This record gives sequence, structure tokens and C-alpha cells, in this order.
Amino acid sequence: MAGIVVVFDFDKTIIDCDSDNWVIDELGATELFNQLLPTMPWNSLMDRMMKELHDLGKTIEDITEVLKRTPIHPRIIPAIKSAHDLGCDLKIVSDANTFFIETFLKHHGIWELFSEIHTNPSFIDDEGRLRIFPHHDFTNTKSPLDCNTNLCPPNMCKAMVIEKIQACNTDKKFIYLGDGIGDFCPSLKLKNGDFLMPRKNFPVWDLICKNQKLIKAEIHQWSDGQEMEHVLIPLIKAISTAETNNGDSTQIVSVKLQTIPVTAH
Ligand SMILES: [Mg+2]
Ligand SMILES: [Zn+2]
Repeated sequence: MAGIVVVFDFDKTIIDCDSDNWVIDELGATELFNQLLPTMPWNSLMDRMMKELHDLGKTIEDITEVLKRTPIHPRIIPAIKSAHDLGCDLKIVSDANTFFIETFLKHHGIWELFSEIHTNPSFIDDEGRLRIFPHHDFTNTKSPLDCNTNLCPPNMCKAMVIEKIQACNTDKKFIYLGDGIGDFCPSLKLKNGDFLMPRKNFPVWDLICKNQKLIKAEIHQWSDGQEMEHVLIPLIKAISTAETNNGDSTQIVSVKLQTIPVTAH
């Protein structure tokens, strides 16, 4: 059993779009979404949009059907299965919501491969409307979001989540994969010996390029599902091999793939 925790972001990391936008667009509510976006936080707006869709007669089944055809690169699911087969502990940390993620993963038969999903809670109410709530209750002034970068949305700082996962897995190496601005804060929490896999040319990659000195983890970029698989799986194998050789980390460096050059920016 590899002593590796692999943490995936969901939107634009596992799937190839933003699930919130995907559902809103596919159910024809883009215009209203764009009108309301300047007036409220994204997380609150998603709950509101679920009410609007419900009022328009869109059902949970309609949302489920849209989620089942969410775009995903064909190599992502094989990569996730391989990582699991190699003994990694797989987790998701996402600013989507439990219903979207669970529906998608179950449809693709990979729900049970993940030991934990940290995201915004959601449930279907008595009227059949999907309700979406913040992961962190930002309306409670007694416990404000403790975010060090001020880059995170008010409902979720993924760094706070990563710290909790780290506290329960002190002897394990972490691999973190993400694309968005919200993935920068948790990247700063990764330690020496951990690995960061930012999606190339996406917002987190720009932030990492500009702030490389703040990152302790070894950085391996990827641009699509095929490259993710080709970086992630050899990395897991190299870490596992190094572990069996009494933690000789030089072997990990030897398979270092497409690390961002220091002169990138
Ligand atoms: Mg994302
Ligand atoms: Zn944060």
C-alpha cells in the first residue's frame, strides 16, 4: 500500500468544464445566471439558480441527465483507476457540490474509489428542488474564513481542508492536482516531499509561476487528461519505489517530468 494521498480538484481537473456553468448552460439559464452573478456570492447564486430552474419545471432528473454527459477527457478515468490500483488514497476537494460530484462519479462507476469528498453540501428538499449550501458558513461572523491569501471564495478555503487532511495523514506524501485560483491556497500548504500538479496555462499555474519560491512541493505540470495520466502514474510509481528503497528520494527527481522552468515568468 503506497503511502500516498492524491487530492483532486473536480471542475476543469477531473471534468473538462465547470460543473456549475455546465448545468446552468445546458438547462438554458445562462442569461439569468450572468444577470445575478454581480449581486451575490457564486455559492449563494447556485442555490438561487436551482430554485429558478425548479420554478421553470426542471427536475432533478433533468439535472442528473446533464451531469451524466459532462465533458471529460477519455484518459482521466483510467488515470484515477490506476492511481487507486497502485494503492493511493484518493480524495476530492472541490467548490462544486455533493450532488453534482456524486452523480457524476457514480455514473462513471468511480464513486467508491474516493475515500473523501470535501465540497459544498447539497440535498434535495421536499419539493424536489436541489439546495446548495456553503462548505464554510460565511454568514457566521463568529468563525470567519481563515484564508491567508484572500484569493479564496467566502464559502471555501481549500487550504483549511488540506490542513485537516494532512493532520490525519502525517506519514504520507501528497499529490495535489488543480487548475483554479482556489487551488493556489492549498498548494502553499504542501510540504517538502509532496507534489503539486497544476494544469498548465490555467489560473493556478500562473499564480504558481509567479510565486514559485513560496511552493515547497515539487511541481509537475499537465495540460490535458492524457498528460495528467502520463505524469501522475509514473510519479506514483517513482514515489512508491523510493519508499521501498528506504526513502531514497533521488529516484523521484530522476523521473521529474516537465517541471515548470524557473525562468517561465
Ligand atoms: Mg477547478
Ligand atoms: Zn484560502
